[in-house]
This record gives sequence, structure tokens and C-alpha cells, in this order.
Amino acid sequence: MIIVMHREASDRDVAAIVARIEEQGLGVNVSRGTERTVIGAIGDERKLDQVMFETMAGVEQALHILKPYKIVAREWHPEDTVIHIRGIPLGGSQVQVIAGPCSVETPEQMAASASAVKAAGVRLMRGGAFKPRTSPYTFQGTGVEGLEMFRQAADAENLPIVTELMDVRQLPMFMDYGVDVIQIGTRNMQNFDLLKEVGRINVPVILKRGMSATISEWLMAAEYIAAGGNHNIIFCERGIRTFETAYRNVLDVTAIPVLKKETHLPVIVDPSHAGGKAWMVPALSRAAVAAGADGLLVEMHPSPCDAWCDADQALNPQELQTLMGELRGIAGILGRSIA
Ligand code: PEP
Ligand code: MN
Repeated sequence: MIIVMHREASDRDVAAIVARIEEQGLGVNVSRGTERTVIGAIGDERKLDQVMFETMAGVEQALHILKPYKIVAREWHPEDTVIHIRGIPLGGSQVQVIAGPCSVETPEQMAASASAVKAAGVRLMRGGAFKPRTSPYTFQGTGVEGLEMFRQAADAENLPIVTELMDVRQLPMFMDYGVDVIQIGTRNMQNFDLLKEVGRINVPVILKRGMSATISEWLMAAEYIAAGGNHNIIFCERGIRTFETAYRNVLDVTAIPVLKKETHLPVIVDPSHAGGKAWMVPALSRAAVAAGADGLLVEMHPSPCDAWCDADQALNPQELQTLMGELRGIAGILGRSIA
């Protein structure tokens, strides 16, 4: 951090700043120019808060030089991280698709979904057992019975499962069912206690972007998980809220290259919650892969019009299969493959 003093700052003001930096265990470098004095803090400046200096006498401005996130930053880990989910790589040269229904409904629906996922050549399956719904009066998910149905259906096709965790109290149950990837939903991106808990285990975590979160807030949320020791984090762009009302959310395609530059961790895209309509999903998926996404999280239902949740945005099995073919072409141009 560097602290720029006012022209009229006194030696006492400078001494007070130096003392405060040293109190935090950091070194100090004082540079006295002809116009003003600049003080540099030497060491891990993340523990210093700009505000704690800007309110002190004689200070004009305090500036961080390092990024506030560390473990997730590419600066600290230049190579792409590949996360292995039961042997399936996410984040490398393969583009990985995760597909399945919005919600776990019935054993029959899950069995049909799992076989459609498999038939399309998709290697990981999604499905929500605990659903974060806007209204408390709508279907809230099938809960633990849903996890049981999901596990059985996915095991029959040997597919790893991805499902949303809403509450730390559900974590032991998720571990019992061997959930392969834990999804933290958009509404919980800044539920810091939840982030800390999933930071203590080593199950891969998909961290969805908060619907109004900046990239920097999102990276900091991931840093919460990483700081606990779990570095298996996958970012998922799912559309952000803007002034536009013609579609559910705005897919922030720009976030893909920006995140890929800022972090070594995989970045995937959820085109379903972005567009909110099944007909938009292929176009958004193609855009995401073309922009460098490492994978997709797509909603697919064996019979979309019967879906209990997000029926409008679910692809049917045939549409998923067609999409996979299109994505193979795009991935190929980029020197990547889809399993
Ligand atoms: C979901 O993937 O089922 C979901 C609820 O998504 P989001 O958290 O992005 O709204
Ligand atoms: Mn959904």
C-alpha cells in the first residue's frame, strides 16, 4: 500500500502513519519529494485497510497496490488449474458440459434425465434438490429424498452429480450422499459463512455469480472458499441483472475473458438462467464456448412442459444432443474438445 501525504502534512503526521504500519508488522519506506511525502508499506498489505489511513491527519490518499485476492489470482498461479471430478477434467483443453433438470422431481424423471444426459455425450449431471425460490409458496425442492433420487439415477449412468447447497446444516447430508460438486447459487454468493464451510472440505465448488455482483466481489467470494483450504473452485457466470427486461438476465460474455485473465480457476457459463428461454440457450452456449468458457451448466428436462421449475428454459433431450454437436465444432476451432 502507498500512502500519499498532503503538501502541508507535518513530520508528526508522517511519524503517526509509520507507527501504524509498523504496528501491523509491516516494513515502511518513506520517500520525501520536493512537493510531498509518499509512504510505502512493505509486506503483505492485505491486512491494511485504506480507510484506516485515509482518516488520519495529513493523508491525501491511500492506495492498495496488490489485488485483494491472492490464492485465486493468476498472478500467484500462472497455469490454468484443472479440477478433476471423479476423473473428469474441468478447466483444461476439454470443454465440459453439465446438464440436467432444474429440480429433482421423481425417480422416473431423474432416470430419464440421466439417460438423456448420457446419450448426449454429457459427462456430468445437474439437479437441484434444495431450491432457492423467489416465492415461499412455490415448490421448494424435494430435499433429502431428492438427493437420494438423484444419486440413484446418476449412479445408474455413472455420472457425477452437481447440486446446490443452500444452508451449512445440509453439508453433512451432502457428504453422506457423496455429492461430487457443490453448487453455491447466485443468491448465496456472498453468504460468507456458507463459503467458509465449503472452504473446509475438498469437494469441488461451483460458485455462481451474484446477480448484481461485480467481478471483484465474485473473486473475493471465491477467495473466502480458497482461504479455508479448498482450492477446487469453478466460477459460473449465469447472467446479471440490468435495466433490460426482454430476457431473464444479461449473459455477461465479457466476464469470461476478464475472469480467465484474473484467475487460474475454471470458468463456466449457465446459459439457461441467463436467457431464461430454451430457444436462447444454443446461441448463448455457442457464444460462451467461443469466448473461452471451460464448460457449461445447462438445464435439460425429459419433458420441459411438465417441469416443476424453470420449464421455459429447459432444453429437451434432442435439443441437448444437437447443441453438443454444435459445440464440438466451435471447441474444435479453438483447439479444444468436448468429451
Ligand atoms: C440453479 O442453477 O438451479 C439456480 C437456482 O441458479 P441461480 O443460482 O444461478 O439462480
Ligand atoms: Mn433453474
